Amino acid sequence: MARAWHLMSRPEGLPTSDNFALKDIDLTAVGDGQLRVRNLWLSVDPYMRGRMNDVKSYVPPFQLGQPMDGGAVGEVVESQADGFAPGDLVQHMAGWRDEAVIDARTANKLPNLGAPPEQFLGVLGVTGMTAYFGLLDAASAKPGDVVFVSAAAGAVGSVVVQIAKAKGMTVVGSAGGADKCDYVRALGADHVIDYKAGSVLKGLAGAAPDGIDVYFDNVGGDHLDAAFALARQNARFAICGMIDSYNDATPASFRFIMRIIAMRIRLQGFIVFDYFPRMTEFYGEMGPWLASGAVKSRETVVDGLDNTLDAFLGLFTGANTGKMLIRL
Ligand code: NDP
Repeated sequence: MARAWHLMSRPEGLPTSDNFALKDIDLTAVGDGQLRVRNLWLSVDPYMRGRMNDVKSYVPPFQLGQPMDGGAVGEVVESQADGFAPGDLVQHMAGWRDEAVIDARTANKLPNLGAPPEQFLGVLGVTGMTAYFGLLDAASAKPGDVVFVSAAAGAVGSVVVQIAKAKGMTVVGSAGGADKCDYVRALGADHVIDYKAGSVLKGLAGAAPDGIDVYFDNVGGDHLDAAFALARQNARFAICGMIDSYNDATPASFRFIMRIIAMRIRLQGFIVFDYFPRMTEFYGEMGPWLASGAVKSRETVVDGLDNTLDAFLGLFTGANTGKMLIRL
């Protein structure tokens, strides 16, 4: 019997296990154009917290009493679709469960790049694309720029640090705790701020006394405010995520927000989906970077479907270094 995590009630603040249930699901027979897939790896991502609220956004909310979904890599065990055969590895969106029947048009066969399959949920997947296009397109970052990136030991942030270094930028990364700061330094960051040990604003002023050209925002709140305070003229901000506020109904307030005007700061929000048509361009640079070691992949692996919820909640307490993944 297949099993899936269901959303049973809408969380207020940080979700708790009471909001969810892991339940048996009936799989339909595999119809024309469909695949039965046994999942091998599941992704949990901060954006899923937004889908637990009943609000209109760029992805629909999870439905109460229904299985949740998200990125997954699995093996085809039955196929009624042209071009797919048992044994094929596919990336698809029927995550949060161990097995699924899906339409083949929603599945992508993993390209043969010689990379482990789980990397297609991380550095070679949405995570890597978010870092790549957020930095180079949304923020128009270029060699010589001073780049500040928050959640720099996390999935997206750690790739941003490495791409920025590969492109000849100076990087300031922030992360929570000494071990994570050591990791960000080992990735090549020029300066690291432990935001749990002191004020981000003071840390950034010390690391980049002449200011920053680019801010890659994963956190919002005090990190974004510090970036406003230190922005040079014509600085560019890629607004990728604001995890500091995902469990908080009270909007953050910003002391230095008016510097947007004086410093002519460009704020560019972006959603990675918009860049999917440019996947080949991304693979063209990321493939060689991975092969040469200029970009390294790191995952925090949690075993077992039963532990998927804990892995998700761990994103909000910093339980992961690199990409948080569940191995089934
Ligand atoms: P991460 O792997 O970075 O995991 C989240 C990390 O955020 C944690 O490990 C933790 O690291 C840090 N964190 C959690 N709460 C706080 C807080 N209150 N203040 C500061 N840091 C915090 O996740 P992802 O790389 O998957 O996502 C990073 C960001 O990018 C998220 O905001 C996400 O929503 C966004 N995103 C946006 C996309 C888009 O298309 N715009 C696509 C993908 C992701 P630490 O221990 O250092 O605190």
